[in-house]
Amino acid sequence: MTAERTERTERTERVARPAHGALTGQAEDYLKAIYESAKQKQNGAAAATNDIAARLGIAPASVSGMLQRLARLGLVKVERYRGARLTAQGRRIALQLLRRHRIIEVFLTTQLGYGWDDVHDEAERLEHAASSDLIERMAKALGNPRSDPHGAPIPTADGEVDERRLPTLAELPELATATVVRVSDRDPAFLRYLDALGIRPGSVVTVLLREPFDGPITVKLGKTKQVLGSGAAARVYIEQESGPKSRTPVVGGRKRQ
Ligand SMILES: [Zn+2]
Repeated sequence: MTAERTERTERTERVARPAHGALTGQAEDYLKAIYESAKQKQNGAAAATNDIAARLGIAPASVSGMLQRLARLGLVKVERYRGARLTAQGRRIALQLLRRHRIIEVFLTTQLGYGWDDVHDEAERLEHAASSDLIERMAKALGNPRSDPHGAPIPTADGEVDERRLPTLAELPELATATVVRVSDRDPAFLRYLDALGIRPGSVVTVLLREPFDGPITVKLGKTKQVLGSGAAARVYIEQESGPKSRTPVVGGRKRQ
């Protein structure tokens, strides 16, 4: 029985993670960084080397060696002076990593009592170690969640994911009402700050006052009023429900030629 199970696990691995055997955790992190960097850009732009480096917390000069390696594995296309772009296979691996990361985060918060400010770093480590079998068992036990504790969408096992670009609270005009969909999960202190304000995915906020020149924003949140800095508001992604539309040009729209 043990042999049978091992065989099944190996088969799952082969199907779900094509180039996994060839990749180190560091290489996997590159693919994720390229995916996330490119997603922030206008339609289909390459991920810039500097941005990849910033996301990985390393010097830009040390990025090109790994990009060349990933290019040889057929996972990225390097574009001179522009940066890197994922191939279909690279993208598939990046999305699998995001799936792993986000399912682990849901598991830690809902099953093990972790706070939402406490799971990102743990998930960064475990996403490379967990087998696909373990992740799929976790997903099933959790009822196949669609989003992680910070509101980020969880790609399906087939690599489908909601890639809509959401505006941020910093772009929301006065008197507009929005639902918080997602918040940045990188900084635990930021998440604790949001806890103190009472802002979570699902919170409904109305902008009461926006100070000019990127000043603070006053929002109504349930029955309370809260003031937050525009830097913090820029890390809170929303879906507008009502009120005047944002004057900020739509991100993700057509690029000016
Ligand atoms: Zn995370």
